[in-house]
Amino acid sequence: MQAIKKDLQITEKLSILSQDSQYDLACACATQENEHRKRSKEDKWVYPVTLPTGGTTFLFKTLLSNECVNNCKYCPLRIAGTPQRCRLEPQELVKTFLSYYHSGKISGLFLSSGVMGTPDNTMEHINRVALLLRRAQFKGYVHLKVIPGASDGAIRQSIALANAVSLNIETAGEENFKALSTSKNYQKDILRPIELISKLTHDDYRYKRVHQTTQFVVGAAQETDKQIIDYSWNLYKKLKLSRIYFSAYQRGLGEPDLAAEFSDKSNADILTREHRLYQADWLMRKYGFRAEEIPLNSEGNLSLDTDPKEMWARLNPDFFPVNINKDEKNRLLRVPGIGQIMAERILECRNQGLKIRSLDDIRKPNKILEKARDYIVF
Ligand code: SF4
Repeated sequence: MQAIKKDLQITEKLSILSQDSQYDLACACATQENEHRKRSKEDKWVYPVTLPTGGTTFLFKTLLSNECVNNCKYCPLRIAGTPQRCRLEPQELVKTFLSYYHSGKISGLFLSSGVMGTPDNTMEHINRVALLLRRAQFKGYVHLKVIPGASDGAIRQSIALANAVSLNIETAGEENFKALSTSKNYQKDILRPIELISKLTHDDYRYKRVHQTTQFVVGAAQETDKQIIDYSWNLYKKLKLSRIYFSAYQRGLGEPDLAAEFSDKSNADILTREHRLYQADWLMRKYGFRAEEIPLNSEGNLSLDTDPKEMWARLNPDFFPVNINKDEKNRLLRVPGIGQIMAERILECRNQGLKIRSLDDIRKPNKILEKARDYIVF
C-alpha cells in the first residue's frame, strides 16, 4: 500500500476522501437514475439527499481514511490499489463538520472508511467522531459504516451513537463473495455483524430508532439478479433492514482481470442493471410484490429494456383491467404508470364521491401516466 500523505490541508484531504466515498450509497432514495451520485458543485463532500418524505437535505459525506488492508477485487482502495492515501483525524473532521453544520450547509453526517490496520481500530476512529459530535450537542443525523469483522462491542458503540448504520453485504452468497475477496469471511465478517445489528435494533428498546441499511456491488461477481433479489427479500423480511442500495461495478476501478467478465456488457448496461434492481427493490418495499413475482428472464436476470413493473403487467394480462373507480389500492399500485402518489389521489377523489372519467381528471397527462391507459377501466 502507498504511504499516507501527511502534509495535506483539510480541504485537500476532503477532496480525496469524499471522491472515494462516492461508491458508498446509503444516503438517497434513488428513485431516479444516478440520483445518488450527485454532489454539490462547490464542496464535493456535500451531497444532496432526497428524503423519503419528499424534499431535499444535504449530508456531509466522506471517508475517514482511504487506506485499507483488504483486497476486495472490485475496490479502488484495495491494498494493491494506487489512490493518493490520506487520513482525517477525528478532531479535525468534527471541527470542519460543525462549521458546515452551524453555517446551515448540511444537516447530517455519512461516515465510512477503509480498514486502518484492523476492523476495531477503524471502528474506534469512526465511533470517536460520532462521540465527539454528540458531546458537542450535535443531535442531527449520523450514519456510520460498520467495518466488516468489527467486534460486538464496537458495533454496540456505533449503534448507541448513530441514527443509521450499515455494513456492505457486497454480493449474494458465499461463493460469489469468495470470488471478490479472500481477506474477508462472509459468515464471520459480514453476516454475523449484520445479524447482530438487526437483533440489537429490533430487540433492544434503546436502539429501535436506529436504521440498518446495506449495499450490493452489482456485476463484479457472477451473481444473477435473482440471487440479489432473493437475498434482498430475506434481508427485508428476516433481518428487517430499512434499505438496500445497489452500486454498479464500473470497469477499470478494480483488478484488471475482473473486467474480463464484462466482455459482453458495457458500463452503461451495468448502470441500467443497477437502475432495474432499484425498481425491483421498490416493487418489493412499496408495491406489495413478493420476490418470486419479480419477472426475470431464463438466466435469472431483469430485462434491461423494460421496467419490471411493466414487464409483470405484460406477463399477467388476467390481472387487468383495474377499475380506477372501484379497485383497492393494492390493485391500483400494480398498474404501470400509477405510483403511490397517484394511487392516493385516486382514493382521495373517490372518498370525496367524485367519479373519475379519465386519468387527466387527476393529473396532467405525461409519459409515465400514458403507460396506464392499456391496463385500466373507469
Ligand atoms: S474493505 Fe472496503 S475499502 Fe477495503 S478493499 Fe474492501 S471494499 Fe475497499
